[in-house]
Amino acid sequence: MSKTILPGATIGIIGGGQLGQMMAFSAKEMGYKVIILDPTPNCPAAQVSDDQIVSDYDDLDKLIELAKRCDVLTYEFENVDAETIDEVKKYTQVPQGTKALSITQNRISEKNFIEESGFAVVPHIEIDNIFEYHRAVEKLGAPVIVKTIRGGYDGKGQILVDDPEKACFADIERLLMSGTCIVEKKINLRKEVSVVVSANSDGQTSIFPVIENVHRDNILHLSSCPALISQKSQAHIYQVGEQLARNLELVGTMCIEFFISTDDQVYVNEIAPRPHNSGHLTIETCNISQFDAHIRGVCNLAMPKIELLKPSVMVNLLGQHLENAKKELNQHPEWHFHDYGKDEVKHNRKMGHITILTDDLEKTKQSIDQNKIWDV
Ligand code: ADP
Ligand code: MG
Repeated sequence: MSKTILPGATIGIIGGGQLGQMMAFSAKEMGYKVIILDPTPNCPAAQVSDDQIVSDYDDLDKLIELAKRCDVLTYEFENVDAETIDEVKKYTQVPQGTKALSITQNRISEKNFIEESGFAVVPHIEIDNIFEYHRAVEKLGAPVIVKTIRGGYDGKGQILVDDPEKACFADIERLLMSGTCIVEKKINLRKEVSVVVSANSDGQTSIFPVIENVHRDNILHLSSCPALISQKSQAHIYQVGEQLARNLELVGTMCIEFFISTDDQVYVNEIAPRPHNSGHLTIETCNISQFDAHIRGVCNLAMPKIELLKPSVMVNLLGQHLENAKKELNQHPEWHFHDYGKDEVKHNRKMGHITILTDDLEKTKQSIDQNKIWDV
C-alpha cells in the first residue's frame, strides 16, 4: 500500500494553464496547499493557488525547488521531459511516474503500446522522408493525414491530404524537418468519443461515462455526455479504459480518444496522460470531476464509483468567442460559465467553456449550433 497524502499537505503542479487551474480548484476545496510552476506570472492556475514559482518547465533548479517545497508533485500537460521527472523524484513523491508520460509523448510508441494491449489503431506508416511518404500513400490509399510524432495538439503538426496529386510537398517536407512523421489513413467518422479514467497508487480506478466530441478545425468544439453509442461500443470502450489504465500503471487522470467509423469499427486515436478538455463537463455532470479524481489519485485517496447526475453539453470558448459569450451571460441562467482568466486573448486559444445540464441533449446542442457566438 502506498502512502496517502491528506489535506493540509502541499501539491506541486507543473504547468499553470486551465487544467492546472481546475486541478487547483479541486485541491483547494479539499484543503490542500497548491504551488504552481509556470513561466507566465499570474497564470490561470496561480490565480487560484497558494504560490507560484515563475520558471520555464525545463529549469531543473526551479523544478527541484518546487519538489522540495511540496509533498507530492503532478503535471498538467504531457510535454514534461520524462528524464526531468526522474531527477525531481529524488526530492518528493511523483506517483504518476514516467511510464504513461514517455509512452504517450510519441505517437508511434503510443500506437504500438495500444496495439500490444490488444486494441485497434488507425492504419498508419512511419516516414522519415518524402520518398517514404509517397510509398505510404500508395500503400494506405488517399485520403491520409500526415502527423508529427511529437508535440502536436489541436491539429497542430498535421496535414490532410485528400488528393495526393494536389498535395503541397513543401508543407510535408517542412513537417518532416521536425523529425519522423506518420502517414495515417483518414477514417470516415461516425462519431468521436472519449473516456476519462482515474486511478490511485493502490490500483483502484474510477471510470467516467463515455463522452461524445465534435471538433471544428481539429479543435474540440463541443462535448456531450452520455455518448449516444451502441452498448457494444460502450462495453468495448470501458474495457479499453480499464486495460490501458492497468498497462500504463496509471495514477491520476487520463483520457483516451476514440474514432468510431461509419462501419462501426472502434479505433483508439490517442491517450492524454492528464485531465482532458472533453472531461470538463464532469465538473457538473458527475458526482466527482476528472480533476477531483486526479487529486484523489495522486494523493492515493479511495476512488469512488462514478455516477452521472444529469446529462450535459460543454462548449468551448475560444479567443473569438469569449467577449460575446460574456455579453450574453445574463440571458442564460442555465450556463455554468468558466473563464480561465488568461491575459492574452488569441484567435482559437482556449479561454473558457460553458457547461449546460440538460434532459434533452439534442435540443441543447441545437441551441448552441444556432447561437451566433460560435459562428466565428
Ligand atoms: P491532436 O493531438 O491535435 O488532438 P488528433 O490525432 O487527435 O491530434 O487529431 C485531431 C482531430 O483531427 C481528431 O480529433 C479528428 O477530428 C481529426 N483526425 C485526426 N486523425 C484522423 C483520422 N485518421 N481520420 C479522421 N479524422 C482524424
Ligand atoms: Mg486529439
